Amino acid sequence: MIEVDVLVAGAGPAGSTCAYLLQQAGHSCLLTDPAEFPRDKICGGGLTPRGWAILDRLYPQLDYDFVPVHHAHLYINGKYRGKYHMEKEIRVVRRKVFDRLLLDEYLKIGGKLLKDRVWEVREREDGTIEVSLMSGETVHCRYLVGADGANSRVRQYLNPASKPRVLIFEQYNQRSGTDEITFELANKYKNGYYYLFPNRDYDISGYCEIGSSREKFAGVLDSFGIEKTRPLGAFITTDIDYPYHPHILLVGDAGCWCDCLSYEGIYFALATGENAARAILENRPFEEVNAPILKKKLHRNKAAKLLYNPIGLAMVKLISRHPDRTERILNRYLQ
Ligand SMILES: Cc1cc2nc3c(=O)[nH]c(=O)nc-3n(C[C@H](O)[C@H](O)[C@H](O)COP(=O)(O)OP(=O)(O)OC[C@H]3O[C@@H](n4cnc5c(N)ncnc54)[C@H](O)[C@@H]3O)c2cc1C
Repeated sequence: MIEVDVLVAGAGPAGSTCAYLLQQAGHSCLLTDPAEFPRDKICGGGLTPRGWAILDRLYPQLDYDFVPVHHAHLYINGKYRGKYHMEKEIRVVRRKVFDRLLLDEYLKIGGKLLKDRVWEVREREDGTIEVSLMSGETVHCRYLVGADGANSRVRQYLNPASKPRVLIFEQYNQRSGTDEITFELANKYKNGYYYLFPNRDYDISGYCEIGSSREKFAGVLDSFGIEKTRPLGAFITTDIDYPYHPHILLVGDAGCWCDCLSYEGIYFALATGENAARAILENRPFEEVNAPILKKKLHRNKAAKLLYNPIGLAMVKLISRHPDRTERILNRYLQ
């Protein structure tokens, strides 16, 4: 049996960040992930200004590659509305490279990584936690940080009925050479949108909505004249549907911390990963440390309700006629 104070399950941005900060503070921790790194993650890879600001604060030494994007093209219900300037760029990263870089920061300062999968969680009478791993190994810890993504095994322990709600489809396209993002908002998408992100060697087309389907994605690609390649789907979790637990902390997608307006998750993964580490180090409840993120998330829920309906969309259409106003709103949203 492995004895450790904190077991962090999942080495995506949320788990690596939490483990990195604990390790940096000299705290006893172990990170486990079944994947062989570098591993890919289906994701647009768009880091908003708030995303790269927290990244730069937590990892000031990190030298990472990205495509800087300063302009967004907007379509509404199939009609082009205009091109809008973003004061601070969106940085589009390759997740395969990016996630490996973050994990390396943890490993460089002596962090330990176990290539294994969390399988079963049990609580002992004294409040400590026993975790069975896929290999048969057992870890005994005081804290378990679930950072194991949208289909989190740790979250299922807290709520066996928990299920991700939104399936996002993406495909890699040949690089078009554009350094600009394209979005389409439309009544035909239920709480979602179409997007095209430029990346270093390819572009990514994607589409998200509640009740998405591969067939509908094919239709959306046709409407933009994009050749179909190999569609990939991955879940995102937006609704917090599990009880808080004082010693089992859920971060990133595992904790359903994703934004339900734009489905941005990397910022929330970094922020909740940091907050879990702080809660453990300062011996404070995670809910308390993480309260500002919950507030932000609830604010986005409200904005999503306003935007994703025919009246909201009609308002956006009106506003989009005024580039200055649209850019002000866009820039405020991204900070
Ligand atoms: C199609 C798509 C496009 C997206 N585009 C964007 C975007 O452009 N910008 C943005 O900000 N967000 C985007 N997101 C959201 C973003 O990808 C996630 O919010 C982010 O990856 C969450 O990071 P994480 O560390 O919580 O989880 P992940 O990055 O999913 O990492 C979870 C890790 O847990 C490991 N794991 C799984 N099961 C176990 C287990 N049982 N035990 C141990 N480890 C386990 C996995 O191997 C994985 O390495 C997108 C999501 C999707 C699906």
